[in-house]
Amino acid sequence: MRKKVTIIGAGPGGLAAAMLLSYKGYDVTVYEKGNSVGGRTGRFTLDDYIFDIGPTLLIMPQYVEELFALSGVNLKDYVEIKMLDPLYRLRFADGTEFFPSSNEKKTVAEIKRLFPREVDNYLRFKQHEHYRFNRIEHCFKVAYEKMSDFLKPQFLEALPQMDILNTLNGRLKKYFSDEKMQLAMSFQTKYIGMSPWRAPSAYTLISFIEHKWGIAHITGGLNKLTLAMAKVTEGYGGKIHTSTAVRQILRKNRKATGVLLENGDKVESDYVVINADFAYAMSNLVGERRKYTDTNLQKHDYSCSAFVLYLGLNKQYDMAHHNLIFGYDFKKSMDDIAMTKKPSSTAFAYIQNPSVSDSTLAPSGKSTMYILVPVPNNKAAIDWEAIKQDFRDKVLDNICKKAEIKDIRDHIEVEKIVTPIDWEYGFNTFKGAVFNLSHNLNQMFYFRPHNRSEELSNCYIVGGGTHPGSGLPNICISSIITSELIIRDDLGNRSFNRKLL
Ligand SMILES: Cc1cc2nc3c(=O)[nH]c(=O)nc-3n(C[C@H](O)[C@H](O)[C@H](O)COP(=O)(O)OP(=O)(O)OC[C@H]3O[C@@H](n4cnc5c(N)ncnc54)[C@H](O)[C@@H]3O)c2cc1C
Repeated sequence: MRKKVTIIGAGPGGLAAAMLLSYKGYDVTVYEKGNSVGGRTGRFTLDDYIFDIGPTLLIMPQYVEELFALSGVNLKDYVEIKMLDPLYRLRFADGTEFFPSSNEKKTVAEIKRLFPREVDNYLRFKQHEHYRFNRIEHCFKVAYEKMSDFLKPQFLEALPQMDILNTLNGRLKKYFSDEKMQLAMSFQTKYIGMSPWRAPSAYTLISFIEHKWGIAHITGGLNKLTLAMAKVTEGYGGKIHTSTAVRQILRKNRKATGVLLENGDKVESDYVVINADFAYAMSNLVGERRKYTDTNLQKHDYSCSAFVLYLGLNKQYDMAHHNLIFGYDFKKSMDDIAMTKKPSSTAFAYIQNPSVSDSTLAPSGKSTMYILVPVPNNKAAIDWEAIKQDFRDKVLDNICKKAEIKDIRDHIEVEKIVTPIDWEYGFNTFKGAVFNLSHNLNQMFYFRPHNRSEELSNCYIVGGGTHPGSGLPNICISSIITSELIIRDDLGNRSFNRKLL
């Protein structure tokens, strides 16, 4: 008889595990509380405009390709991948604009134009970080379940390159003297919801990866990835039930035996995989816990949250696909966010103008725009309902001054605002911390919640809350590691072997 796997949540983590395990012959059922698949990598529409809810930048599409290949299919048969050039437009507080590219010649020309003394430093950065990437990459791809796993060859080989006593900004100062150049290579920590002045130095690898392999866009939005994962799963006979929330994990002593749905149905299964946000799941679905008690969860450090404004415009702007707009108070705001103080409407804004490279998201002559401002998570107890309209106005005032969209207010046909409160209650995201637990070294590898649950046997975790962490490439890896652990456990061999899948 085929073994039954129940997956809680149809985010990219849950769907990636669903496609791998259904391909491997398991009887997979996914329960998703939302009315469509994708979780934070889902989509919504406002009239004829189509929006990605969360992710808009895809780095390392090769990891997603690997995931699909391990599931017996070719990603390119499901989605159209476009590499963007330039990567993005960076607009610094003094008005300087920098357009980096994964084409080295173009970036070198840009650096010559703006920061001529940094050209050699840039080439040195790429060369050194490539060497470092080759040694560190593998240690993100194995499970950490015991302290002795730090003795795995993958980790030992990476260790000398980790630069563990340094922060990302500290490391960049060794390469670049120009502060704008440092910023251009460090703001990417915002992708994991951290400050460049606090994130571990290993995360210089994000900017290296962008400059080396580029940033991808999927025609129709990144939500197409999760739609494709659902299609592959269903193609192998996996079942996905949307609008079906899980109330509790069923257990016999310390073993997961299935789930209790909100509608009262009990579903027995051999294995349970949690894709719902880690801290939310621990406090709401698991029941009595030994390690991740409510007190323990409160002690952890969580990422920032996001204020997102989605606009449907009856105009197209000739502006880059991705735009990052820095204010003079960027560093102060990063500190304030980390210390859950006041949000700033002027420190930083990410603007996605996807219609410039994708005509499928809005009617002809019109466009969508996605504006994200990092803000503190809900530990800050901000009354977002009371301030959201005013904050929205200030964000628009700020970007109108700095981006070439001065008349944007005249062209808004539809709009939607999502605040940290919506992330917490709409997506069951603990404290609205959209990039999960912070990626401090004391919350990574063995110190991050394990892929095999530490609370219940026959229970596993996928998604941004487990190893290796947040972001789509990491999430794909988490699902590969976790699926492999399930298969190994099922075969009665608990030792980890990456070759199995
Ligand atoms: C605004 C924003 C921007 C981002 N930008 C990027 C980016 O550009 N690039 C990138 O790589 N990453 C980005 N991320 C980070 C990350 O890739 C996404 O958040 C990703 O969707 C996380 O995937 P996940 O599978 O861990 O969780 P989720 O996508 O949150 O999926 C979990 C699912 O579980 C469901 N669920 C919760 N509770 C229950 C329950 N009780 N019963 C049933 N179902 C339940 C939820 O509804 C959800 O569908 C961004 C995130 C956000 C929020």
